[in-house]
Amino acid sequence: MPILRIALDVPLSTLFDYLVDENLPAQIGQRVLVPFGRKQMVGIIMEVIEKSDIALDRMKPITQLLTDVPPLTEEVLTLLRFCSDYYHHPLGLTVMAALPSRLRAAEPVTIKREWSYTLTATGRALDLNEFPKRRAVQLRLLQALSTRELNMAQLKVLSSSAASQLKNLMDEGWVAPCAAAQPLALAHTFNNPHTLTAEQQEAVGRISTRHVGLKSDLRSNGNFGFKCFLLHGITGSGKTEVYVHLMHEALQQQGQVLLLVPEINLTPQLENYFRSRFPDTELVSLHSGMNDNERTTNWLKAQSGEARIILGTRLAVFTPLPQLSLILVDEEHDASYKQQDGLRYSARDVAIFRANQRGVHIVLGSATPSLESYYNAQSGRYQLLKLTQRANQQAALPVVRCLNTANVAMQDGISPILLAALAERLHRKEQSLIFINRRGYAPVLMCTACGWLSGCSNCAGKLVLHLKDRRLRCHHCGHQERVPQGCPSCGNSDLQPVGLGTQRIEEALQAHFPEARILRVDRDSTRNKGSWAAMRKQIEADEVDILVGTQILAKGHDFPNMTLVGVLNPDGALYSGDFRASEKLFAQLAQVSGRAGRADKPGEVLIQTAFPDHPLFQALRAHDYDAWAKTLLSEREEAGFPPFVFQVLLRAEDRQESDVYVFLKQAREMAKGLKMPVEIYGVVAATMAKRANHFRAQLLVQSDTRRSLQQFLREWRPMIETIPAKKIRWSLDIDPLDF
Ligand code: ADP
Ligand code: ZN
Ligand code: ZN
Repeated sequence: MPILRIALDVPLSTLFDYLVDENLPAQIGQRVLVPFGRKQMVGIIMEVIEKSDIALDRMKPITQLLTDVPPLTEEVLTLLRFCSDYYHHPLGLTVMAALPSRLRAAEPVTIKREWSYTLTATGRALDLNEFPKRRAVQLRLLQALSTRELNMAQLKVLSSSAASQLKNLMDEGWVAPCAAAQPLALAHTFNNPHTLTAEQQEAVGRISTRHVGLKSDLRSNGNFGFKCFLLHGITGSGKTEVYVHLMHEALQQQGQVLLLVPEINLTPQLENYFRSRFPDTELVSLHSGMNDNERTTNWLKAQSGEARIILGTRLAVFTPLPQLSLILVDEEHDASYKQQDGLRYSARDVAIFRANQRGVHIVLGSATPSLESYYNAQSGRYQLLKLTQRANQQAALPVVRCLNTANVAMQDGISPILLAALAERLHRKEQSLIFINRRGYAPVLMCTACGWLSGCSNCAGKLVLHLKDRRLRCHHCGHQERVPQGCPSCGNSDLQPVGLGTQRIEEALQAHFPEARILRVDRDSTRNKGSWAAMRKQIEADEVDILVGTQILAKGHDFPNMTLVGVLNPDGALYSGDFRASEKLFAQLAQVSGRAGRADKPGEVLIQTAFPDHPLFQALRAHDYDAWAKTLLSEREEAGFPPFVFQVLLRAEDRQESDVYVFLKQAREMAKGLKMPVEIYGVVAATMAKRANHFRAQLLVQSDTRRSLQQFLREWRPMIETIPAKKIRWSLDIDPLDF
């Protein structure tokens, strides 16, 4: 009897061996149902072997081979094996996490799909000349299907009663559903209203695979050779237009295109935009905001080749795409590409691996590339393409100015110059945006008598004052309580909010401009599904004068009547302990500045800061990303930080603080004992030293090359696993972004 090695959703680094009847056509990549303990679990066949280390009489047979969905391809399995290896995460968990939840469940997949229809052998054998003329609709359907496969929408064009007549034809056994039609040289409509700018043209031309020529059968390999491009284009330079043209080309070559976008950017707006450019091309989205059914349906459409454009957030990087011929990663610097729990992968990096494995081009796009990508482009590993001009000639870059907050009397945290600029926009009936990256009313409540601060009882953080519903909330663990009447420590009744949040700024601006229509956009005001979409409509319809919001507002939106952006309180990130904080701040401010003056009206950006001469602001004023990136790179090189080194962070947390440190110190001793070429730091508390009643600490290890770090990890991880760690939760974070 053959033996199947199965990946299961259990936190062990092994596969599980099961017996299978040799008459069953078990294939690698196929789903199976197997007994595990007292449960039945779904798994994926990773290998078919003849001999197992496990004794025959101890192995159980599988319960069922699941044939409702085609098997995962070797290509996808290789990608998942790589991720499991590189991120040191159990293979079973990695494989199962890549499947939509409906495919992980033991129930059969009964998703209603848009099938195509085709003639069966008996259907093809019919002599249509002899077919009864009174069954005209059936005849028309049969004639159409004799030339090619058609889906329901296409059949309905032939007759309004196509659905019921098709059923009759299927009952006769003449027609059967089939997996989606291959796009056999199906021409697609491409709406192309713009003439590319010279820079766009140059970028498209360099990335283009056209000159490579259509070698043999793209469907079987699609292999044009791997190349990684960094498309560095300022905000408004028309990177999207470059993507659209590359998509067009890939579609012409019968390829599938994967476009990855950050979490926040995935709005129906974006989907509709690409649909408007390719109106008859099947396009699907994949993101965590979808329900299980939608996600599984779209995933299956991608797997069958029916979907030609796949628009998704990080999890979409694992989607099976039989004709994948191009990968695009928009806003490649965005931190949301990195998953922060479970399989801590970077979807951007996995996408690069995938493109390399498949031999296709990948384009990383950004106005503010990550230092890692920028460095790779400088060193020639990636090919650098630049868009230095705005696509719309009239839309000049905004004028960026710093408002020095030292020695200025602020009004509710806003400088008089910014208030005057807001008044001017109100007068001109233009929109303004006030950017502050803090939701709530104030970051903390303080007692004026004894200095008590509203701390969270479960965390090291402070409770944020939310005045709208008179609550104190912890943004880390979710704990909340009513605002106390008096100080819990001394009883004094004068408690004051300290610092600024979106709600407080909204209130202050409303008091200052009673006539203005002010809209607050943050996680609290956009929590309900559809609320952000409704708000965007309001903004577009010019029903809003001043927007107050967090980073949700920074990305990708195009508000043509917005001419002023004010930035409050960015200084915290300038001298933060997190070495990436200033990199992130620059990206955020460049993005949010890009919101000003997109159309024919010039924009202005006013930044309130106590450090106007900081190199970050100098570069921002000059719109000079390169100068800033070079400054950061030389700092990082000197300090020995990424991208010059490669890091792994061992994190641990537990209710018992001492246990965490004992565990990490032991892991550290083991690491040192290996005497490998890595640098081992000390055990330190995490930035958030306590969260949800767990004490958190970490240990950083770094190395000059990925390879030596991986070699070290292969030795070290099994040793960590032997530490008797009670209930300590620990994890390895490879290429960590947050500390
Ligand atoms: P980015 O993603 O680089 O910030 P977008 O792709 O959103 O920029 O383009 C900015 C604006 O310029 C959009 O309104 C887009 O329609 C327009 N645009 C892009 N390319 C062209 C072009 N070649 N000619 C005219 N307008 C263009
Ligand atoms: Zn007090
Ligand atoms: Zn808390």
